[in-house]
Amino acid sequence: MGRSRENTYLFSQLYGIMPQKAAPDGRTIDQEVFPMSHTVELLSVGTELLLGNIANTDAQMLSQGLSELGLNVFWHTVVGDNPQRARDAVAIAKQRADIIITTGGLGPTCDDLTKNVLAEAFGKKLIFDEGSAERIRSYFQRTGRTMTDNNLQQAMLPEGCSVLANDWGTAPGCAFEAEGVHVIMLPGPPSECRPMFRYRARPYLLSLSEGIIASHTLKLFGIGESAMEAQLREQMNAMHNPTLAPYAKEGECELRVTAKAATDEEAQALLQPTVAQVKALFGDKVYGVDVPSLEHVVVQALKDRGLTIGTAESCTGGLMAKRLTDIPGASAAFKGGIVSYTDEIKEGVLRVPGHLLAQYGAVSAPVAQAMAEGARQVLGCDIALSSTGVAGPDKDSWGNEVGTMFVAIATPEGAHVRALALGARPMRERLRTQTASHAFDLARRYLSGLRWGD
Ligand code: ATP
Ligand code: MG
Repeated sequence: MGRSRENTYLFSQLYGIMPQKAAPDGRTIDQEVFPMSHTVELLSVGTELLLGNIANTDAQMLSQGLSELGLNVFWHTVVGDNPQRARDAVAIAKQRADIIITTGGLGPTCDDLTKNVLAEAFGKKLIFDEGSAERIRSYFQRTGRTMTDNNLQQAMLPEGCSVLANDWGTAPGCAFEAEGVHVIMLPGPPSECRPMFRYRARPYLLSLSEGIIASHTLKLFGIGESAMEAQLREQMNAMHNPTLAPYAKEGECELRVTAKAATDEEAQALLQPTVAQVKALFGDKVYGVDVPSLEHVVVQALKDRGLTIGTAESCTGGLMAKRLTDIPGASAAFKGGIVSYTDEIKEGVLRVPGHLLAQYGAVSAPVAQAMAEGARQVLGCDIALSSTGVAGPDKDSWGNEVGTMFVAIATPEGAHVRALALGARPMRERLRTQTASHAFDLARRYLSGLRWGD
């Protein structure tokens, strides 16, 4: 397995001099796992979040990024554009977290109060930063907009802070350390918040660091999160370095193995045995390590072997084709797809024999197989995938329950059908996603010479 630079992060030396704080359950946070561990509180400022006008996507994005850095995000707080309630929220946050990251409220209007409140809470004055003022002026020049005086308000920053220059908007972010707490302020608009985290806040956090955090993510298909956890629980509880964290995602599971060490080499040496062990435990349910998705694995395997694929989709309505074509360079492997939603198209275009449709109905194993075989012929590809099923909300006219799905693969060596009953918690979107994933699972199993695993 190649070493992934993207998965490797420096680890904070400062963790060592931070006071340990108690987690909500009273336990000292990850003392053994990460003896120098930080606790983070995200403080999202904006009345529009409280009103439900917008979703707090900044918090989600930041939480993902921070957990990849090995930082413990223990609290998400949302507060409106109200100075007193914002002060109260900051007072609570500084008691329990040693990194506070705020989003929003950095703009030029009077409801943009974040800097004032945070500076006040840590006894800092706001002072005019000429460098930021210059950036703001040139941003307005560049974008041909007219600047008003209050835009320069944005150049007022807490004394002694590190300025986080904003190349994606006007309001600069900033970071400072006071009273044993790191404060990082980021702008609210997601188009600014995301790059500001990635290119400004993350390097700031890394600049405090020493050592390495490295992780590998194993992707599994065909096992539920609870079954996976049940098999691993004892081991997970006993592990300190590396640690193992499970995630469930759209009918798939991920296991992230994370190690910390002085060097990348040492971290990798800690990771490899666990990665090998988990692979051995779950066998061919593991479809990849550090891979983006099942369809990526399929496209890569097709390209490696110089093969092509096509799709014939009923219940997934083009989702397989969409997911395949989401991958840059998929044209080298994906020839095309047919959305055959009606019997007429199944028979007329895919050449599904009419007697199969009449005898078994469109949602059946024989029709799924005939669709895949037909697509393989019609599209002239090496392998073809098909889907047919009942996505709901109601049963079909043949009495098939919602979630009754068939996926099939046609290959030069013959066809295979997988029957699915996904209807326990029927939701159209989820059913379609899972059905497409099952079809991709057949393809990656075929391409890797594995058993079908049904
Ligand atoms: P601006 O300079 O645009 O005023 P700001 O840093 O002051 O930026 P806000 O005024 O709080 O940020 O929010 C600006 C816009 O950014 C909001 O209208 C909203 O669309 C978006 N936004 C703010 N906070 C979040 C958040 N937590 N998640 C997603 N979007 C957000
Ligand atoms: Mg604003």
